Amino acid sequence: MTSDIEVPITDRAKEELEKRFNRLVGVSATNLCTHCGWCIDSCHVYLATGDVRLSPVGKADLIRRHYKRSHDWMSKVFPRWTGAKSEITENEFDDWLEAAFQACTLCERCVVNCPMGVETPQLLAAARGTLTAIGKAPEILDQLANAAIAREEFLDSFSEYFLDQITVLEAEVREKLDDPTARIPVNEPAEILYVPLSGAHTIVPQAIIFNAVGASWSLSMFEASNYAMFLGDTARAKKIAMRVINEAERLGVKELVISECGHAYTAFRWEAPKWFGGPLPFKVRSIVEVLDEYVAEGRLPIDPSINSEPLTYHDPCNLGRKGGVFDEPRRVIEAASTDFREMTPTKAQNFCCGGGGGLVAQLDWRDQRIAFGGPKADQIAETGATRVITSCDNCRHQINELGDSYGLGLSEVVSVSELLVDALLAARQPVQQLAKEEM
Ligand code: SF4
Ligand code: SF4
Repeated sequence: MTSDIEVPITDRAKEELEKRFNRLVGVSATNLCTHCGWCIDSCHVYLATGDVRLSPVGKADLIRRHYKRSHDWMSKVFPRWTGAKSEITENEFDDWLEAAFQACTLCERCVVNCPMGVETPQLLAAARGTLTAIGKAPEILDQLANAAIAREEFLDSFSEYFLDQITVLEAEVREKLDDPTARIPVNEPAEILYVPLSGAHTIVPQAIIFNAVGASWSLSMFEASNYAMFLGDTARAKKIAMRVINEAERLGVKELVISECGHAYTAFRWEAPKWFGGPLPFKVRSIVEVLDEYVAEGRLPIDPSINSEPLTYHDPCNLGRKGGVFDEPRRVIEAASTDFREMTPTKAQNFCCGGGGGLVAQLDWRDQRIAFGGPKADQIAETGATRVITSCDNCRHQINELGDSYGLGLSEVVSVSELLVDALLAARQPVQQLAKEEM
């Protein structure tokens, strides 16, 4: 049997790239791209750098030329004419790393602007998966994916610490709601399993809302994020998602509600059914969709006057362009504030913040990331908004840094849940005051 060590890394790369050839990659990997250049101006990385190598078509061609050689009949006959390459060389890996991990956030804006429907991010995701398989992926993403898996392996020691933290957060929820019976249930059978991120800001506001409407819910022991997705590593991505799916099945929930996190929503809503060969045995929604339902049903008293500062909404690429969740956050924001301003362009044409695709985690690529966020900074500045609402923690982090780097004068960047809680608590204040006075 031949060991991995004996196989040249370029041959392994060729094999791994080939493994990732599927229908979507296939239609984008051959001559569907006419090199018309329409996609070029749609990419925030190209707009920020002016570097044609980093345009969608420039990045895709690095990978496409290898697929063409084995999958395109014209390239088999006239490889020089079509630019097809039969062999991968080791010096290409740095270009792939730059193109796939650093200079592409997998935002899909180029896809919606391509008249031929070329799926450039699918080609770059194949490159990500290949680099990961041959040990050339960014180390930090690898470590974050492994850390998520390790949490399940050391669940007993972790859960004691987690429950202690939740007790502290529960006290905060009770105080804010002025309700000593408010709870953050963990590990309890319920209708909803809410999956947070790390950080109280993804637990406390949602707990306030679930308590205010009297929802049947439980908090997941695990985080929603799935860094293996950024690595294009389906095996590890499945393991990370499976922890939550097992928990949801054990608790018998009807619905999995994902925190305001773009890639986690994509993982559970769209990718998991493909990974596991069919629909999950429960509904999957973003918390933003749930908030929209609560507001529409009039289950939350809201005082929008508390949120009078001019504000705008940034569509996370995963939730919006890839997931179609555009109107739900806007309806909640409009109900909970008084000066909402749309960016131009917006919704499916909204620009990526520049920090997607796992880029926010890459500290040594910060300068590039901030530069790639230039088009987003311009969009925000044009609205005149001083507060940005977004439904993704990565976007929130990036936009906060854009605010400082580009002098946008932002007071804060918050989630839809936090904005809604401000309006909810403002509306409850007179009621709580009255109750105290009557005592
Ligand atoms: S990816 Fe689409 S828009 Fe871009 S050059 Fe190719 S065909 Fe034109
Ligand atoms: S997916 Fe986004 S970042 Fe990547 S090439 Fe297309 S527009 Fe650029």
